[in-house]
Amino acid sequence: MRGSLFGPRVLLRRLREVMAEPISAQERLDKIVVTIAANMVAEVCSVYVLRADNVLELFATEGLNRESVHKAALMVGQGLVGQIAAEAQLLNLPDAQVHPAFSYIPGLGEEAYHSFLGVPILRAGRTLGVLVVQNRARKHYSEEEEEALQTTAMVIAEMIASGELASLSATESAGLDLARPMHLEGVALSDGVGLGYVVLHEPRVVVTDLIAEDPEAEIRRLEQAIANLRLSVDDMIERGEVAHHGEHRDVLEAYRMFAYDRGWVRRMEEAIVRSGLTAEAAVERVQSDTRARMMRQTDPYLRERLHDFDDLTFRLLRELMGKADKPPELPRDAIIVARNMGAAELLDYDRTKVRGLVLEEGAATSHVAIVARALNIATVGQVQNAVTLAESGDAIIVDGETGLVHLRPPADVEHAYAEKVRFRARRQERFRRLRNKPSVTRDGVEISLLVNAGLLFDLPHLDESGADGIGLFRTELQFMIASAFPRMGEQQQLYSKILDGAAGRPVTFRSLDIGGDKVLPYLSRSVHEENPAMGWRAIRLGLDRPVILRTQIRALLKASAGRELRLMFPMVSQVAEYTAARALVEREQRFLAGHGYEPPSTVRLGAMVEVPALLFELDALLEAVDFVSVGSNDLFQFMFAADRGNGMIGDRFDVLSPSFLKALRTIAATAAAKGKTATLCGEMAGKPLTAMALIGVGFRSISMTPASVGPVKAMVRSVDVAALEAFLSEAIETSTAPTLRPVLEEYALANDVPLS
Ligand code: PEP
Ligand code: MG
Repeated sequence: MRGSLFGPRVLLRRLREVMAEPISAQERLDKIVVTIAANMVAEVCSVYVLRADNVLELFATEGLNRESVHKAALMVGQGLVGQIAAEAQLLNLPDAQVHPAFSYIPGLGEEAYHSFLGVPILRAGRTLGVLVVQNRARKHYSEEEEEALQTTAMVIAEMIASGELASLSATESAGLDLARPMHLEGVALSDGVGLGYVVLHEPRVVVTDLIAEDPEAEIRRLEQAIANLRLSVDDMIERGEVAHHGEHRDVLEAYRMFAYDRGWVRRMEEAIVRSGLTAEAAVERVQSDTRARMMRQTDPYLRERLHDFDDLTFRLLRELMGKADKPPELPRDAIIVARNMGAAELLDYDRTKVRGLVLEEGAATSHVAIVARALNIATVGQVQNAVTLAESGDAIIVDGETGLVHLRPPADVEHAYAEKVRFRARRQERFRRLRNKPSVTRDGVEISLLVNAGLLFDLPHLDESGADGIGLFRTELQFMIASAFPRMGEQQQLYSKILDGAAGRPVTFRSLDIGGDKVLPYLSRSVHEENPAMGWRAIRLGLDRPVILRTQIRALLKASAGRELRLMFPMVSQVAEYTAARALVEREQRFLAGHGYEPPSTVRLGAMVEVPALLFELDALLEAVDFVSVGSNDLFQFMFAADRGNGMIGDRFDVLSPSFLKALRTIAATAAAKGKTATLCGEMAGKPLTAMALIGVGFRSISMTPASVGPVKAMVRSVDVAALEAFLSEAIETSTAPTLRPVLEEYALANDVPLS
């Protein structure tokens, strides 16, 4: 083989012998660099290991000054070695010293060497160090040499991961990269502080068996695994499973494209044949290469696909290693770390053990965030690379108040957080004391504070929060956690228990809001929807499949026998849809009356205002309904054409923009003029500042996550509505700012209105 004496397979076998020798870690590493240098006919071979303090320390060298071992060090990003670590990709340079990133380290003795080949030492996607060979002559290293060095780096990665090198470091106390504390910033999605241990939503597979005994057999294993993978991807696409998780159609295409990519398979086979790797190790090797190539892409589409490629690689590794996709056993204080997940997946976890959730994606009004808030799970979204950086079992703190995540926190951070938890408990206690105080403003205006709910375990929150009732009962949650369509009897049972628990306080049920990202696996749909949020969902589905809607209505009517039934319909776009839904209710009422069932004492029907078209039919709507409820999450996403689940535009526009507040003011004013109640039950009702704005534009009834009732009530009790209304209407009319947030914050500060 050109450029090397023995080829990678011989090198790998030699390294395996070195690994098995009963010698010290330093001696082993020294032998490894000598072996690599000899095999690759390189004059220099050096290993740099990444320390906890982000410094790459020289751990062994053949050819450079040995005196520099454990002394020479580079920051990540500094010099060629630092650049390789920072970008996790190899550098192959005929003349390293003319490269702009080259940085001279005194005493190392690199002056004489021109050609340079350096590769990152990677393990499960994380950079642990850098491996370098150098030669005097100016030459370009061959592809085989690149491959040999990358394969060798995998062996060294094993040594680093085993922890046997930790005690060699110049700064022993710092430890190596594996234990590195990290501070990650994201966006706060659900309030609360969670301390616990990382549980990867999709556990990473760690390959430990690198060297093949029988390459032929490894090829056969790989072929079999690829065949299985293709079947499972086809199957997944057929069932639309990926789309269920709120993913985009691109993902489906990318999965299929990668799974059938001949080049990918060929490269893995070559890694087995040429380097003597096991099938698993070959998959991982090619993953590192492909990752590096894709990260170099300037095309954002291709870079985005990196995630999908990683997902597929992990699926293939799971095929090879025979690990079923079983949910992991949860520790008592579990913090789930995921790229993204659907609301139903979160509900699959044992909620008594989940203390926090960290997502690489996610936005405040995505349904997973709403469910996390309902479950009181501290959540931070848009945390870049969280899945790659976290290791199962790592200690972790999720701060859902500030959007910070502390991975492997040092003791002082842990203490600070323990203190923060105590502080929050005291604050919670203060809010609890407000529980029985009326929700009345300083100038005597009553504001009805309600809670959003969806499952039985929400019931105790009603008492704990001191709310006036349930303003939004999301009936779809029962359907989302069930494995089959809940039968009428089961639906009736839940509704009746909820009404029992509410003990006379009003409960507003919302008819099934499925579709969009809330898909029921057992409800088959024949058509793939490009834009499910604007697709066949909610009332549209209910009117087209009247059996589903009528069954639910019947269950609700029966559960409400002798008491009040309040029912509203989601995603109404035209008054006619509401009228059609009301006709279904009346039909069921007649049916039950005809069969001798006791009717509800009263039936009050409403529509959710979530589609902007309805704003131009408000008069007619408010004549037709008994009440309206604004779903500000959806209304906002449609008014601003800004996908509520897309973190990239999550804070591009603000619900406190003059235009949105104007729309809300129109709804509240029209309802008041017609003598009907307008409630608002979107996420903006749950933050004191946005809730204050709602009062300022005329809302007297708002519904929120139970944990928000205390802070919002504290705000209500200190605000003067007349002054606020005057202030806000002036600001709305005159301001062209993108948001009134700063102005409202100033107002709250100047008027002693507490916002947290
Ligand atoms: C809304 O859209 O604001 C709302 C309350 O409904 P959901 O969040 O369930 O779509
Ligand atoms: Mg909605």
